Amino acid sequence: MIGAVDIGGTKIAVGMIDEDGCVRSQLETPTDPERGYADALDRITELLRETARLAGCEISGIGIGSTGPVYPLTGEFGNVNFFPAWEGENPVHDLEKRFHVRVAMENDADAAALGEARWGAGKDKERLVYVTVGTGIGAGILLNGELYRGVDQAHPEIGHHVIDPSGPLCACGFRGCWESLAAGPAMVNWMKIHARPDYPQVDTLTAKKICELAVRGDELAKQAVQNEAKYLGLGLANLVTMFVPDAIVLGGSVMKSAPLFLDGIRRVIVASCRLVPFEKTEVAVASLGENANLIGAASVWHYRFSERRCHAD
Ligand SMILES: [Zn+2]
Repeated sequence: MIGAVDIGGTKIAVGMIDEDGCVRSQLETPTDPERGYADALDRITELLRETARLAGCEISGIGIGSTGPVYPLTGEFGNVNFFPAWEGENPVHDLEKRFHVRVAMENDADAAALGEARWGAGKDKERLVYVTVGTGIGAGILLNGELYRGVDQAHPEIGHHVIDPSGPLCACGFRGCWESLAAGPAMVNWMKIHARPDYPQVDTLTAKKICELAVRGDELAKQAVQNEAKYLGLGLANLVTMFVPDAIVLGGSVMKSAPLFLDGIRRVIVASCRLVPFEKTEVAVASLGENANLIGAASVWHYRFSERRCHAD
C-alpha cells in the first residue's frame, strides 16, 4: 500500500492507494503555508498514520505530487508561489526519516499524467500528454513511457505557451498565454465582458455555472462554451502538431464538462494540424476523476521504484 500526498495551494490531501490504483482511505488538511513547513510536515505525518490506520495497512512507500516548481530528483521544493517560505525544504528526506520507507516526489501535473498512464485513460500509451484545466492549465508529458524533464529537471509550463500575443494579461506577467485564454477564470471573464447589464448574477459566475447554464440553453453561456472550446482546441492542436502523441488526456475541474467542448476542440484540431496524422491522436477524458492527483501521487512511487529503477537516475 502506497501513502499518497497531494500538496496543492489551498489543501493537502493524503490517502492510501492500493496496487490497483484504488483509494482505500483519504483525509485532507488546509495547506495554511503561513503556519510554516514544520507544521505542515507534522500534519502530513499525522494524516499518513491515520489513513494507514483507517485502511488497516502498513505503508510500504510514499509518493508526493506537489504544485510546482519542485526538484523531483533531490526532493526539494523550489520557489512555489503558494508557499515561497518552504523553498529548499525537502519533504522526501523528511518523510523517509519518519517512516523508514522510500519516498518520491513530482510536480502534480506530472504525477497526474503518471496516474492516468498507469491506471487511467492513458493506459498503455507510450506517447502521452496529460492536460489539466482548472483555475490554471498544467500538463505532464510522457515520451516513450518516460516523464519528460527539461534542463535542471525543469517541468515544462505548457499552460504558458502563447496563443495570442495581443490576448489578456496572464498571471505570469506575459500576454495571451493558453492559460489566460482557456483556464476556468477565462470563461468567467469572457462572460463578464459580453454580458448585458441585466444578465443575472454575473458577479457570482464560475466556469462550472457557465457550463450548467449552457446545458440549460442559455445563449450567452453557449457562446462562452464555444469560445472556450476554440481556445482549448488551439492549445491542444499545437500539442498535436508538436508531439503527435498517441493520446492527449484531459483532466481538471473544467474538464468535468468535457462533452460540451470535445466537438469544438476536434474541429480546431482538424482545421489546424495540416502536416501530421492528427486523426491518430486520441483525445480522451481523464478517468481517475476527483482523485486523479492523489492517485497520481501514488503512481509517482511506482514510477520511480517499482518498475524502472533507472528513472531515479
Ligand atoms: Zn502565462
